[in-house]
Amino acid sequence: MVESEVPAVSFTNVHRHFGMVRAVDGVSFDIVDGEFFSILGPSGSGKTTCLRLIAGFDQPTAGRIMIHGQTTRGVPPYERDVNTVFQDYALFPHMTVMDNVAYGLMVKKVAKADQRRRALEMLEMVKLADMGGRKPAQLSGGQRQRVALARALINRPRVLLLDEPLGALDLKLRQQMQIELKALQRQVGITFIYVTHDQEEALIMSDRIAVFNVGRIEQIGTPGEIYERPATAFVAGFVGVSNLLTGEIAARITGSNTAFSVRPEKIRLAEPGNPAPEGSCTAEGEIHNVVYLGAASRYVVALDGGGELIVIEQNLDKSAAQVAASLGQRVRLAWDRRHNQPL
Ligand code: ADP
Ligand code: MG
Repeated sequence: MVESEVPAVSFTNVHRHFGMVRAVDGVSFDIVDGEFFSILGPSGSGKTTCLRLIAGFDQPTAGRIMIHGQTTRGVPPYERDVNTVFQDYALFPHMTVMDNVAYGLMVKKVAKADQRRRALEMLEMVKLADMGGRKPAQLSGGQRQRVALARALINRPRVLLLDEPLGALDLKLRQQMQIELKALQRQVGITFIYVTHDQEEALIMSDRIAVFNVGRIEQIGTPGEIYERPATAFVAGFVGVSNLLTGEIAARITGSNTAFSVRPEKIRLAEPGNPAPEGSCTAEGEIHNVVYLGAASRYVVALDGGGELIVIEQNLDKSAAQVAASLGQRVRLAWDRRHNQPL
């Protein structure tokens, strides 16, 4: 095998049980070298435990973990070519930004001049070159997060573990950092393993996503695969709005009682009785709830015969007042049947 074909990190049937709690319950995956890989799941689904197992802060109850083709059994954290960025940054408050970043080199007793030069390179990379003399308390949340990144990258680890690193930032800053982090990962070419409970964040940043649920993987795939072809009802519901229809109501719409999901932005609203294009699924119902979101609006439509569908429609030519006035109106829904995802 050529080196790049060896997975950066590989789990084979890994378990980590705490008494009765199966924090990680038979997990297998291969993370490609250089990949931006996200572990996405709700709180308590085993994400942090997976990272701790990779970093070596914790040991599996059963199963095998390899890093770059090497066994991790008995290998302590400091001998693994892995570094971690935590949500709370864990910067040293009494040290300058420069010293915080250089810390990993200081521990390795790298020559002082080299420490400075490389720390400055890192600070330039995260756009903080002129802040090296400050203390962490004199920085904003986003700047502190960048310092934590620079500090984690200075030892040039081959794998960087990030545990909800943007969780403490407000929405605007988080969105900006998502773009920056992704660009940075491309630039340095290091494997990123990114833990988040935020589905949008995972979709924006990842090459591939593993969706976790109570210690198990529900699906691994690219953002497009996860969103457009969710493998389970859990994935359909956790990543985006699921619009799950089952049983009789599914049969009325598709002719088969196989459960299916359809994404809200695929559905178009029209007047009742309006003919729909060839190849469409249709349903009629009443708008029971409507939320104006600025660029788009979200409608909850109670279907005749049971069930409901959420529809998201861009506000192309509807005003906020028109959107609000649609509450209680009867509508016909239509969508291309190819958007149905059987579950
Ligand atoms: P996540 O990061 O997805 O929120 P965790 O990996 O932290 O989830 O936790 C997964 C499950 O394992 C949770 O039910 C948690 O309570 C449990 N757990 C984690 N660490 C320990 C521990 N040291 N002792 C007992 N239970 C733990
Ligand atoms: Mg966690």
